[in-house]
Amino acid sequence: MKIDTVEAIPLAVPYRRPFAFASGVATRADHVLVRITTDDGRVGHGEAPPRPYTYGETAASIVAVVRDVFAPLLVGADPFARERLRADLARTVGNNAAKGAIDVALWDLAGQACGQPVHVLLGHAADDVAAAHMIGLGTPAQMVADAVEMCEHHGVEAFKVKVGRDLAHDMAAVRQLRRELGDSVELYADANRGWDADTAIVAARRLADFHVTMLEEPNPADDVLGRRRIVRESPIPIVGDESTITLGGVARSLLDGDAQAISVKVARTGFTDSAKIVGLCEGLGVTTVVGNQIDGMLGTVASTALACGQRALARHPVEVTNFLLMADDVLAEPPVIADGRAAARQAPGLGVAIDPDKLAHYRTDR
Ligand SMILES: [Mg+2]
Repeated sequence: MKIDTVEAIPLAVPYRRPFAFASGVATRADHVLVRITTDDGRVGHGEAPPRPYTYGETAASIVAVVRDVFAPLLVGADPFARERLRADLARTVGNNAAKGAIDVALWDLAGQACGQPVHVLLGHAADDVAAAHMIGLGTPAQMVADAVEMCEHHGVEAFKVKVGRDLAHDMAAVRQLRRELGDSVELYADANRGWDADTAIVAARRLADFHVTMLEEPNPADDVLGRRRIVRESPIPIVGDESTITLGGVARSLLDGDAQAISVKVARTGFTDSAKIVGLCEGLGVTTVVGNQIDGMLGTVASTALACGQRALARHPVEVTNFLLMADDVLAEPPVIADGRAAARQAPGLGVAIDPDKLAHYRTDR
């Protein structure tokens, strides 16, 4: 089996409502579908969600780097030779979402060729996982309504609350969420670097009062001494996310005392590097959680497969609900969140098919 073609197809899929967080706002899914075809007719898929306000990539930059830089390295190669291809792609720095989508498509092909689902190839820790829902910024009433809808319609009992704006507003939202949702649901928080160190330390103490379990990216990690002070003084663990996007970056952050737990995202480290990060953290006794890069439906299927493949990830609720923001997508069969859980697909590879009519409708390059 050899790689025949590599395509990067830009899409624009509308959201039902915008998703806001301290470092930006997403109003539609400008994702890039990476499609790798082999000489024996197999097709592997991966989704690259550009997040320019966090990582610098845009849909146009992802299309360009895949087409002009990565495709020539991939065509003719064995899709099973992931370590060799990973080294080839690593000669270009950055472009993590583009590399992540290629890696996902390679695993999809490997699974299809072996007749096994990706989560089974990754280690088959579970067949389904508890789902966590990410609540975007809004008024406290809007944030509560979002959570209650997820509880009532999908049985979700774990929520990551976006914070990182005005502290009083953030705490009002968390207080109201705790009051409305009760004590049994898990709340954790993500400030997307929105606070300074002094504010973050005050916030962490107050969040602990509401039994919030973790705080992600409270301030910019480049504010080195400020971040270490937060880690020292916070009563709840500080999670590295956008400051810990590579294997070496995770190691450095943990050794420097910038983070005590790590958010892992298929959208930026694919399956291969995500599994390496999970292994590194497992050896160090550091918790890892599957985060959501506001993934579309394909990214959600991939995140669920990663979590079901790795025991350390299957233990914590997995952020896999935000595709529900999308009004539609290009997958023939959308993911399902039921009774608070997301199940891995049991078909070979990722088990996804692309709806050709929807692809024709949402692609922006024709
Ligand atoms: Mg985050």
